[in-house]
Amino acid sequence: MNEKPQYQIDTLAVRAGQERSQFGEHSEALYLTSSFVFDSAAQAAARFSGEEEGNVYSRFTNPTVTMFQERLAALEGAEACIATASGMAAILSTLLSLLKSGDHIVAARGIFGASQQMFSNIMPRFGVTTSFVTGSAPVSFRAALQPNTKLVFVETPSNPLTEVFDIAALADIAHEVGALLVVDNCFCTPALQRPLDLGADLIIHSATKYLDGQGRVLGGAVCGGKVLVEEVFKFMRTAGPTLSPFNAWVILKGLETLKIRMQAQSAGALDLARRLEANPSVARVFYPGLPSHPQHTLAMRQQATGGAIVAFEVKGGRAEAWRVIDACRMLSITANLGDVKTTLTHPASTTHGRISPEARAESGITESLLRVAVGLEAVDDIEADLLRGL
Ligand SMILES: *Cc1c(COP(=O)(O)O)cnc(C)c1O
Repeated sequence: MNEKPQYQIDTLAVRAGQERSQFGEHSEALYLTSSFVFDSAAQAAARFSGEEEGNVYSRFTNPTVTMFQERLAALEGAEACIATASGMAAILSTLLSLLKSGDHIVAARGIFGASQQMFSNIMPRFGVTTSFVTGSAPVSFRAALQPNTKLVFVETPSNPLTEVFDIAALADIAHEVGALLVVDNCFCTPALQRPLDLGADLIIHSATKYLDGQGRVLGGAVCGGKVLVEEVFKFMRTAGPTLSPFNAWVILKGLETLKIRMQAQSAGALDLARRLEANPSVARVFYPGLPSHPQHTLAMRQQATGGAIVAFEVKGGRAEAWRVIDACRMLSITANLGDVKTTLTHPASTTHGRISPEARAESGITESLLRVAVGLEAVDDIEADLLRGL
């Protein structure tokens, strides 16, 4: 009778983590406060020493941020979650809390541009090196392992080419040498894919994307087992890339509609991908939900849908790709994704513009490639906008 009910993900998305104050508010409260007061000197001391649980200062914990962390942890099936100021802060906090000089990372070549830069430009200054693996074949990852490999890092599906990585196979490979598998779950979110269930050790989120879903705030999170997340928390609490309570509140409310948004946006993406594939002006479409995608079978096993990101190559080069962008009247020309408003990006000159041309070529990001992050508009209208310049 006293056992806690086990709720399904739809229920957790709107209920998990809510802590009501003395006022009994129905909606989650926004606690805009930098610090907290104590009843006595003794209580202050007990809070600081950790003898008594409770909030001290919002760089450490804040009730609104805690509600967001608990809700996201529930959705990911994680023991713990720590929120960060952005997705990149989540990656940086993970690297700096778990690695030391002399350690080695194996990362997929096809990852977010700033993540690539973090691994190749920033971490080497602290003695942490990275081997990049081209393609998604698990054997290539095994071949890149070194005795000092501590972390294997992938994004699946990847940005912008929607390459799909076999999470269960990569977890086994990482664990063979005692390394951790870290999965950036930005593109799928827990509404479509739960990496921890497949053997991953940690999940990275850019909450800026689908978790908020309406392009309002920056945020990030790291989810996983208690022990690892506690290490990340200790770093973050001291170093300071904490999520603001306001942003946490916005994203917390965003989680309530995450699943229906992901389902609707995925359905729109599949429809658009089919239409683009049938269009003679389109050279190639990259979408995991299409049977033509090289890892379609794996994607359908690992994810609930193909996701909401469609990439495609126009016939021609940069001029032809830019013409499609410049002819649009509705789609938002922006580097962001994960919004209910459809966004259109030319990765080679924006998100992936700062990585070396060689690395870009190795990742398969050509000048003719465009990325559409499908929102909630009618697919007819999205297609019509793209057709103006195609
Ligand atoms: C945007 C993004 C990030 C970085 O997140 P920010 O919130 O912008 O710092 C990391 N990974 C992926 C896959 C992203 O799309």
